Amino acid sequence: KSLSKLLSLGAQRGQTLELVAEPTIADDALPALLKAIEEGLGEEVEPLPAVTEAAPQQAPVAKAPKAKPQAPRTGAQVQGVAAAPGIAMGPAHIQVLHDFEYPQLGESVALERERLQAALGQVRQDIEGLIQRAQAQAIREIFVTHQEMLDDPALTDEVAARLQQGESAAAAWNTVIEAAAVQQEALQDALLAERAADLRDIGRRVLAQLCGVPTLEEPKEAYILVMDEVGPSDVARLDPARVAGILTARGGATAHSAIVARALGIPAVVGAGEGVLQIAAGTALLIDGQRGLLTVAPAPEVLERALADRDRREQRLQAAAERRMESAVTLDGHAVEVFANIGESAGVAKAVEQGAEGVGLLRTELIFMAHSQAPDEAVQEAEYRRVLDGLRGRPLVVRTLDVGGDKPLPYWPIDKEENPFLGVRGIRLTLQRPDVMEGQLRALLRAADNRPLRIMFPMVGSVEEWRQAKDMTERVRREIPVKDLQLGIMIEVPSAALLAPVLAREVDFFSIGTNDLTQYTLAIDRGHPTLSAQADGLHPAVLQLIDITVRAAHDYGKWVGVCGELAADPLAVPLLVGLGVDELSVSARSIAEVKAGVRELTLSHAQQLARHALGLGTATQVRALVEKS
Ligand code: PEP
Ligand code: MG
Repeated sequence: KSLSKLLSLGAQRGQTLELVAEPTIADDALPALLKAIEEGLGEEVEPLPAVTEAAPQQAPVAKAPKAKPQAPRTGAQVQGVAAAPGIAMGPAHIQVLHDFEYPQLGESVALERERLQAALGQVRQDIEGLIQRAQAQAIREIFVTHQEMLDDPALTDEVAARLQQGESAAAAWNTVIEAAAVQQEALQDALLAERAADLRDIGRRVLAQLCGVPTLEEPKEAYILVMDEVGPSDVARLDPARVAGILTARGGATAHSAIVARALGIPAVVGAGEGVLQIAAGTALLIDGQRGLLTVAPAPEVLERALADRDRREQRLQAAAERRMESAVTLDGHAVEVFANIGESAGVAKAVEQGAEGVGLLRTELIFMAHSQAPDEAVQEAEYRRVLDGLRGRPLVVRTLDVGGDKPLPYWPIDKEENPFLGVRGIRLTLQRPDVMEGQLRALLRAADNRPLRIMFPMVGSVEEWRQAKDMTERVRREIPVKDLQLGIMIEVPSAALLAPVLAREVDFFSIGTNDLTQYTLAIDRGHPTLSAQADGLHPAVLQLIDITVRAAHDYGKWVGVCGELAADPLAVPLLVGLGVDELSVSARSIAEVKAGVRELTLSHAQQLARHALGLGTATQVRALVEKS
């Protein structure tokens, strides 16, 4: 009955519409409406192409049912992608989103109201249980907000009105929650917009009650969370005390969610295939986040071996942790610096405490993302100052704002692109917004106070980009003089690696971002649900580019770091050291282990290994080579 509602359907030519009418008028209204629509609603319309003619040939292909993936059998081993190290075991807790089925019209107003109350009561009680159990304040706060949403009169009044009009409890509830979520999403403020996910979360919980789909109880003991794909914020909300490990059907090792899992220290295997979603809830699972291996209902001896492995690894880590403050020097006296990757000033204390000799990558976009508007220069300066203060004289390598691609800034809309990873991102974007970039550079130089500051530019692919960024920095430097400043670029684009012999004359250093360098070299989206498993930074093609970069830098007396996830991979450490990388920058919790890895090597053996690896054809061969060395 409402034109605006009809328009907001967004119905397009050729789509199928479903019509629903109240029982008293349905017999007359539905055929009349149907006829009117088919006749074009008063407009001249061209008939749709005759679908039925083509259908007989196409139908079998189009309708061929997708084979339902099979759950791996008892004792089976499934190879996934190693996303966060560690061995974890526990019962499977499968989180799959269900489609709900329910009637649009209710049986009676009183009955539907009663159903809704019962469902709301049950969900309220469940959430109360979650609040009681939550260890972390942040998790408790999320669920308190959920309870407030359940009781929001703006929602419940609207639902009540719809029940009064004869809708079923499920239909009324879903419509109101979905409309509220859509409205919420449209808000400018990123933080408020994200609350749409919370609305949908409680929406699903209540719908599950109304439709009789049982919400799975969390197992009492620490469990392996099994999901299709997991977003970074899903992981950030997990309680590491309850989630022993993460197993996903899709995803790759350098997706940002995997990075968060590593930071929380939760072992994770991702991209293990859709079959894992068919595993029965409660099945015992064993995951090895180092090897990317899942074992379903492992036999006692397999479990025993895994436990022994875990103990050995824990002992190794314990020994490494005790020596975390010492520098990393190979058996034949070659020192490699081990720095930390952090995203905000709060991370610096932990990094230093874990043995970081400096910060090798400050991802400044996380500071921008933590604000609902672009932080001004004073806010940025204070944040950078906190990092330098916390480092107490150790060097800080800062990356200028790196957004676009998989990291959009909500308050800085970018034109939609067909291929955002190949679009306006990183330095390309900031060079188009010199006001933002100069503001950031000014904040950085002001915060420096003669402490060792290194600034690097992300996603540089050409000499011109580097020179423009450098010139801009030099201009700002004339305004705000600093003593100890180096300027460098991240090597993330193959063209930059290949141009390293030219760039090395002009830069002070290179820092290799292996996450993106692997993505662009192998032409595999780093977050691709099924392919990213193959995006292994130990691919010989990536190693060749690292080799070119290091040789070029050393020819001109410049240093090279690696700040991608590869730097923390125990199998990669010998090769990176052997290729001549001077600095490895990893998340705080990997520092001790990486240092220990360096101490087990001799430079000469690592160099031999690296030369051998450069002659191989696949990442699997490279991994096997290091494992048996
Ligand atoms: C990289 O690409 O390797 C890198 C360190 O940057 P990010 O993961 O933030 O893209
Ligand atoms: Mg990158």
